[in-house]
Amino acid sequence: MNTDFTSETRAIFIDGLRNAHAMENQALSIMKPQVARIENYPEVASRLQQHIRETEGQITRLESILSGFDKEPSTLKDTALSMVGSLATIGHAMAGDEILKNSFANYAFENFEIAAYNSLLVLAQAGGLQEAQQILQQNLSEEEAMAEWLEQNLPVVTLRYAELREAGQTAKS
Ligand code: MG
Ligand code: FE
Repeated sequence: MNTDFTSETRAIFIDGLRNAHAMENQALSIMKPQVARIENYPEVASRLQQHIRETEGQITRLESILSGFDKEPSTLKDTALSMVGSLATIGHAMAGDEILKNSFANYAFENFEIAAYNSLLVLAQAGGLQEAQQILQQNLSEEEAMAEWLEQNLPVVTLRYAELREAGQTAKS
């Protein structure tokens, strides 16, 4: 890989890649339990399914960049973060308005991811790492598309939730 980086900036970039790898595993541990519990919002479930598959691809892409630096993803840190995600999900089981809270949280998470990739892209550009830039741009584009979908779908989910409540259904996710 390119050598325009000073060793310090290179370390920052590699740390950032590892953090992104952990972030993506956390994303999986947030989305997978949600999909499993959704009953009344099939369009949300299918978009989450799609993004789970995309996220698995993002993880592979990050690993390909890290392997170019002869670095392994930070497995220990990943595991710890994944556990936090799972425990948080188990902890708040099925509040009535869970679908809304998850919609807000997912939107926030996608925007966190967007910021992380934008930051990595600045470093990749500064280091003249064109291949890494292309790969990171793919991840960024998927996060932007997901964030946009969540934003556009929020009115739909909100009204559907209200409709189900009006109809007297136990408002399952
Ligand atoms: Mg992601
Ligand atoms: Fe994402």
